[in-house]
Amino acid sequence: MKIKQKRGEEQKEKKSGPEKKGVIVSHHGIAVDVLFESGERQLVKVKRREGHVVGDNVVVKDHRLTRLPRKTELCRRDSRGSVRIVGANLDVLGVVVSPMPMPTPGYIDQAIVAARQAGLTPVLVINKGDLEGARIFADEIIAIYKGIVDIFVVSAITGEGLDALEKYLGQGVRSFFVGITGVGKSSLLNAICPALDLRVGELFTAGNRGCNTTTVSTLHSLPGGGELVDTPGFNEFGLVDISTEDLAGFFPGFEAAMEDRCRFRDCRHRTEPGCAVSKRVESGEISQERYDTYLDIFDQILAGDARFKFRR
Ligand code: GDP
Ligand code: ZN
Repeated sequence: MKIKQKRGEEQKEKKSGPEKKGVIVSHHGIAVDVLFESGERQLVKVKRREGHVVGDNVVVKDHRLTRLPRKTELCRRDSRGSVRIVGANLDVLGVVVSPMPMPTPGYIDQAIVAARQAGLTPVLVINKGDLEGARIFADEIIAIYKGIVDIFVVSAITGEGLDALEKYLGQGVRSFFVGITGVGKSSLLNAICPALDLRVGELFTAGNRGCNTTTVSTLHSLPGGGELVDTPGFNEFGLVDISTEDLAGFFPGFEAAMEDRCRFRDCRHRTEPGCAVSKRVESGEISQERYDTYLDIFDQILAGDARFKFRR
């Protein structure tokens, strides 16, 4: 009796096919490429409006795909102002900077805040360590962010420091790199993931009609362990606006002050009395420069909000 029942279940299973767990490694509009735990890959048809993204954990059964809940979502704003998800279940945001071109003031802080707001761990990657003057540039950054975020000084050209970065990523983290054009993101990705060029080529020869291969976001497994989401063209920045409420709570260097608490619960740490941040600026624990950067970004967010409202 029992055996019969089991056979019946097996047959049912056969008819409807097994459930397979996997992760979306690239999105082609009408289909997603799923990498299963077994190592096999399969293109599964999807509808655009379902909003699946690279990094989504899914269960596939009978060519039907179900998305599992997301741990994190990293968002950006596209050129038309719409919010798009860069990737799901990312762990680390690598903020790439270089002495040439230099990051704009506040860039690193905004990236760190955006990462923390999305639940990602920010790390700083200082590239072009081989350039003259790179040491001075790196030391300035290290002086500010040491003990706050992990920092890697590297060179995509000479390979300096790449071992340490690969080891960090190899702990099994899934990462995404941002940085302004020219800092060397592509060079860096190619250096730590030599298969990257090849993959882009593969997608191209696969002939994705109406789908610009240079904008296909892909999840790559790194040779040294870990994974990396590459979204060519989107890494410049445009991460979704941070809010004035969240800015201080995630601002690098304000961590201790935030534990102290200000007199007012909704303190924005500008001119309010009994402010834990102002107190630390007065005592020198937070440098005037850091505080000014905070105020600048705060004003930029306010201006951005106004601009956004105006557009609507
Ligand atoms: P991306 O715009 O951030 O993707 O930057 P690219 O990878 O295209 O690099 C921009 C320029 O910087 C190229 O000319 C690279 O050869 C150069 N570059 C990238 N990494 C390094 C580096 O570590 N050292 C030096 N000296 N040049 C680099
Ligand atoms: Zn305050």
